[in-house]
Amino acid sequence: MAKKLFIKTYGCQMNVYDSARMADVLAPLGFAPTDRAGDADMVILNTCHIREKAAEKVYSELGRIRLIKAAAARDGRRVMVAVAGCVAQAEGEEIIRRAPSVDLVVGPQSYHRLPALLARVERGERAIDTEFPVDDKFDALKAPSREATRKRGVSAFVTVQEGCDKFCTFCVVPYTRGAETSRPVAKILAEAERLADAGVREITLIGQNVNAYHGEGPDGRAWTLGRLLHRIADVPGVARLRYTTSHPRDMDASLTAAHRDLKALMPYLHLPVQSGSDRILAAMNRRHTRAEYLDTIARVRAAQPAIAFSSDFIVGFPGEDEADFCATLSLVDEVAYAGAFSFKYSARPGTPAVEMADQVPEDVKSERLQRLQHAIDRQQAAFNARSFGRTFDVLFEKPGRYGGQVVGRSPYLQPVQVMADAAMIGEVMPVTITEVSANSLFGTLATASHAHQSVLMQAGG
Ligand code: SF4
Repeated sequence: MAKKLFIKTYGCQMNVYDSARMADVLAPLGFAPTDRAGDADMVILNTCHIREKAAEKVYSELGRIRLIKAAAARDGRRVMVAVAGCVAQAEGEEIIRRAPSVDLVVGPQSYHRLPALLARVERGERAIDTEFPVDDKFDALKAPSREATRKRGVSAFVTVQEGCDKFCTFCVVPYTRGAETSRPVAKILAEAERLADAGVREITLIGQNVNAYHGEGPDGRAWTLGRLLHRIADVPGVARLRYTTSHPRDMDASLTAAHRDLKALMPYLHLPVQSGSDRILAAMNRRHTRAEYLDTIARVRAAQPAIAFSSDFIVGFPGEDEADFCATLSLVDEVAYAGAFSFKYSARPGTPAVEMADQVPEDVKSERLQRLQHAIDRQQAAFNARSFGRTFDVLFEKPGRYGGQVVGRSPYLQPVQVMADAAMIGEVMPVTITEVSANSLFGTLATASHAHQSVLMQAGG
């Protein structure tokens, strides 16, 4: 009987991708995925260190898993427990010390070694591997079966870059994921071709600093992300391309040109700014000013007028005063985002910002966060409202909650619900938006006469 594997994934798309690859690594050992931790023979927590109290949340989840493990042991069943991801990287030995239920700890650069680590656990050891190995994780990973790829749906992530050299003063990524590395073009292309062959229609290229991509091309030279996107757009079957997460400094001319030239490249760009104040941007070591960020937005808009932007914001960074915060609000007004994520600053052990003077009181942070989220929510609602009556190309992804309904995504990642045949899953079709709610759009398939009129939105209009 197949052993069951339960993976709980926290955080970003990089972790979603890594979780899928961990399942691929364990499939040849007889592990099949389950959604229920209580049924599992192996539980992996794939953790994220970005959010507040990340490590504490992992320990409290491990407390729950300890009970599952004990209940299984009473039935004579062994459950193996692994901690992976950025908390594993940052806290390795500490996890082993504090959580006796954990059998193994594996960092984001070494999960291709899971079979060997599991063998050690079966010999009675508690295994830990948080190295940055010299062997290429991606070379060691086997391609998942066509069937496994199909089951994951019509949209897939491909890691093209890992790590970060930017060292923003609030961020642990350069410490947990290491220096920037880029995969060679040929290997990315092979992965994209395999995915397209298995029915994937949309590929999102991911990396902690994806637009710092500089992988080796077939000509032996370093290729930019823009050049890579041009190449992947030629893969038969790939209808849509996206990339995330980008740093404003790395939006070079080739990437801007890709937004102008590639129909497959969706006009929706997540471009985190974190703050609208130059003083705070400098304290964060973001290496760009407010004016440079706005200039980048203007350049991309000039290349692709239909583009919409999203962003990340941190409020209450050490030293942020009311004037700095108002500069953030005015930047939000100026850009007119389609959506954004915003968080209160919280200290990450080992990062320079922890030591900074002028830490902002919690109640001030909460009040500013509320004001910022209100501004962002208004912009998002206005952006969605402008969808009404328009006709978008929608990539149909899965059956809807109600019979006869299919759910897809607009170019701007908005979920769109349509009454249509499930046979349309995987197709890109024009849909006219007939209703807009807080989190979704509803539409009808456009008639043939509308099909050629499928329009994109003027962001910020
Ligand atoms: S660019 Fe800054 S925030 Fe982004 S991963 Fe690198 S250090 Fe972290």
